[in-house]
Amino acid sequence: MSAQYNPYDQVLATVEQAASILGYDQSDYEILKYPERELKVSIPIIMDDGSVQVFQGYRVQHSTSRGPAKGGIRFHPNVDINEVRALAAWMSFKCAVVNVPYGGGKGGVECDPTKISESEMMRITRRFTSMIAPMIGPEKDIPAPDVGTNAQVMGWIVDTYSMLQGHAVPGVVTGKPINLGGSYGRAEATGRGVTITALNILKTLNIPIENTTAVVQGMGNVGSIAAKLLHENGLKIVAVSDVSGGIHNPDGLDIPNILDYLGKSKDNLLINYHKKDVQHISNQKLLETEATLLIPAALENQINADNADKIKAKVIVEGANGPTTGEADDILNNKGIIVVPDILANAGGVIVSYFEWVQNLQHMSWSEDNINKRLKVIMDHSFDAVYNIAKENDTSLRTGAYLIAVKRIVETNQMRGIWP
Ligand code: NAD
Repeated sequence: MSAQYNPYDQVLATVEQAASILGYDQSDYEILKYPERELKVSIPIIMDDGSVQVFQGYRVQHSTSRGPAKGGIRFHPNVDINEVRALAAWMSFKCAVVNVPYGGGKGGVECDPTKISESEMMRITRRFTSMIAPMIGPEKDIPAPDVGTNAQVMGWIVDTYSMLQGHAVPGVVTGKPINLGGSYGRAEATGRGVTITALNILKTLNIPIENTTAVVQGMGNVGSIAAKLLHENGLKIVAVSDVSGGIHNPDGLDIPNILDYLGKSKDNLLINYHKKDVQHISNQKLLETEATLLIPAALENQINADNADKIKAKVIVEGANGPTTGEADDILNNKGIIVVPDILANAGGVIVSYFEWVQNLQHMSWSEDNINKRLKVIMDHSFDAVYNIAKENDTSLRTGAYLIAVKRIVETNQMRGIWP
């Protein structure tokens, strides 16, 4: 991440803007500008070759006023305190915009999952969990998967935390394997929510699905499910990418075949995917590809002042957290490109995480159909609320989402008052 780009500055600017439209005084929302609690840990690990390496890890709780902190754990070389802080704050606003009873948190370990073995990853996860254990728990702060982590990592967290407590505590994380108390539909929930949102915005803008083309950046948990479901809904996916680069076919890619290839091994990267009529392109070129819909589903800061002007999509639905910088947002707005913001578009994950946590607390298991229906009700309702408030105030959808979220958190804080 570039030295000058600090995603937390972006959070602060968005909050200031929403608070000013809402007519709040500084003291009404001052509290939202500071993360409530932060922990930095150094994680020593015996590597497979016997050497010792020390990894840096973080857990940040931005707000717990509306409920326990909630947010994923990221394993990535770019993890740093500013990134984790921003991701934690975005979680507070995301949970507020879809009205699930959580605050926001996030964690991360600065490491490269592609360069460590599975057993090294397990040792990092267990040691990290033990070091943040005083801060997490089903009533305090509930992690989940994010970039570089998955259901297996959540399983190791459940086991480590349960061993430390002396009894099984499945509700300490969401996004766990089903057999450990995970929820049906959780693994697909974020991509499913992105798809529901994409279909909602296309319908609202009267763009017919037939012949609508889409580009997806990042074929991980979020992007691959979004690509799959959009393809199943009749959109033509013309380009997709992963960390190794992108592939493009203006006549439409064979998404099931690509998913099959990627699913066979984590070493299968798109750079090695070769098929007739499929051209290889860079991630930068992918963002500039001609298409109706663009779904950035990789990392922050992908659409920025350097490339926003070159974006050709009519609609952007943010699968990733923070993929568009504030400067880029202004450029896109001026070009008339509609951006459906991350805190709304990718909230499907936290909504089904909430369902998972409720099932754990009740010792119940709901069917996948029940979960998907409930998810759609909340996504549709939240989309309508954001769209309407943005229209009423003549703002972007991002500002609309923040108007709802900031108001909900400020009102909760006001009703609680400041202790003591
Ligand atoms: P993931 O690790 O499963 O996948 C990330 C994908 O992005 C991979 O395909 C990777 O190869 C690709 N990638 C990495 N660096 C890239 C780069 N520089 N350019 C292009 N592609 C790159 O992660 P994920 O869980 O799918 O998360 C993706 C985004 O969605 C993140 O911003 C995350 O915070 C956000 N998100 C995830 C969830 C969730 O439930 N997993 C929920 C909400 C938001």
